[in-house]
Amino acid sequence: MTATSEGSALTQVPGASGIVPGASGIVDGHLVSTSPATGEEVARFPVAAPADVAAAVERARAAGLWWEQLGYAERKRRLLRFRSLMTQRIGDLAALMVAEGGKPRIDATMEIFVTVEHIAWAAKHARKVLGPRRVGGSLLQPEYAGRLEYRPYGVVGVIGPWNYPLFTPMGSIAYALAAGNAVVFKPSEYTPAVGQWYVDLFQEVVPEHPVLQIVHGLGDVGATLCRSGVDKLAFTGSTGTGKKVMAACAESLTPVLVECGGKDALLVDADADVRAAADAALWGAMTNAGQSCVGIERVYVHEKVYDQFLQMLVADAEKLSYGEDPTQDIGPITMPGQRETIRRHIDAALADGGRALLGGPDSVRGPVARPTILVDVPESNPAVCEETFGPTMTVAKVKSMDEAVAKANAVPYGLGGAVFAKRHGVALARQLRAGMVAVNSTFAFAVLPALPFGGVGQSGFGRIHGQDGLREFARASSIAKRRLPSVIPLLTYRHTEKSVALAERIVRLMHGRSR
Ligand code: NDP
Repeated sequence: MTATSEGSALTQVPGASGIVPGASGIVDGHLVSTSPATGEEVARFPVAAPADVAAAVERARAAGLWWEQLGYAERKRRLLRFRSLMTQRIGDLAALMVAEGGKPRIDATMEIFVTVEHIAWAAKHARKVLGPRRVGGSLLQPEYAGRLEYRPYGVVGVIGPWNYPLFTPMGSIAYALAAGNAVVFKPSEYTPAVGQWYVDLFQEVVPEHPVLQIVHGLGDVGATLCRSGVDKLAFTGSTGTGKKVMAACAESLTPVLVECGGKDALLVDADADVRAAADAALWGAMTNAGQSCVGIERVYVHEKVYDQFLQMLVADAEKLSYGEDPTQDIGPITMPGQRETIRRHIDAALADGGRALLGGPDSVRGPVARPTILVDVPESNPAVCEETFGPTMTVAKVKSMDEAVAKANAVPYGLGGAVFAKRHGVALARQLRAGMVAVNSTFAFAVLPALPFGGVGQSGFGRIHGQDGLREFARASSIAKRRLPSVIPLLTYRHTEKSVALAERIVRLMHGRSR
């Protein structure tokens, strides 16, 4: 086990760049990102002024028309090439993700694995999901044929977070591009270099026009993008910022996709494979140092298997390594401010009668948080109801799965969840108020590209991934074509009493019978 920097303060002091390690900031008109582990500067980029954002959107508008006209087959070819190059350069990209976000190398590599799957799925399925098709006619008006296709919006603005700086933005970017849109992307201020890396890579594959562009800066640049005249805005981040994004987009009635935070629960039924449940709960809570929107933050375990589950969970958790080094199981917390939230939740749980079976009041040291398992925490405590976003979890005993479901659903979030059960797994999954649930696993819905990803309630709305994720970035375009003269003229002043009476008879026959 590797300890964190012994005795270092919760809040670190600024380094040579004047920026707290792991934070980001503006120096001489440039956004500077630093490593959360070492504090070293990773990259700097010119901050986009409002005029730069406007210019990017204008360039994207022309590029988008060209990209749409390329057609599905050529877009697919380019996106698959993008995917191939990303796969060939996994080592470079993972190294940058480790340097800038501080995540363990294996977490970075797995994020790339899943992302390339999504890029390929979006590229391969766009035509089938969005392309032109005939739709059924009407017996009342058989002379009309319906044609439906999904056309791109034009320019999509994407605002992304830092915790999965590739996977999360790409859930919008790849699907928006496959649907034929141009994209202007504002990455998190904490991970601009990762965003720049894949925007540059895409430009290798599509050198002709700026179909995918990036604008750097702090939240104000994101706000400018919301008001820049983009045709749709896809936001992933915290619920608080999501509300600001919606308000800004409302000014121009710009449609939004809002993917926000969560407080996901894992349920363990009495007949569950307890070994597998403990294993999944630990990984689901601790992977990426707990900085996962669909991370497991609460566990509800049937009383019949509670003791067995806890014993296995704690024994496994004790073996986890943690530290700044990227070979550890748990790396540093990326955003300095988040360390304070994690500490506050642990303190609040302990002050409210909770017990720490692992970790405790000194879990957060320097940039790293030690894995922490809390029990006996009241359901009203912030550690149970608010997003912690760190390597912590609460575990509670329940008398029945009805109680587990009620407690799991008692938070305003509704992003993901997990159920471990032999007999009632899917039935329990359907009772959870969440956009996605994994049965006898965690996170599995995120790695199946065909499954839509998104939440309800304070977790947002709209979907990335799957067919819904492609349609999210396209508008339905409906065309009704008249192919024969009308037998019963209705959509004209040439209709007669006789034609209306005939139509009424048909409508009564079709719809008027009681069943
Ligand atoms: P934030 O909400 O702080 O930031 C998200 C993005 O919004 C950043 O690029 C940020 O820029 C930008 N931003 C900040 N203020 C504004 C504004 N007023 N207008 C427009 N854009 C703005 O979230 P985090 O980056 O901290 O990400 C963590 C959160 O994201 C967690 O709550 C997590 O659960 C959630 N998340 C949700 C996912 C989902 O799919 N549902 C997936 C992954 C994460 P800057 O960084 O420069 O401030």
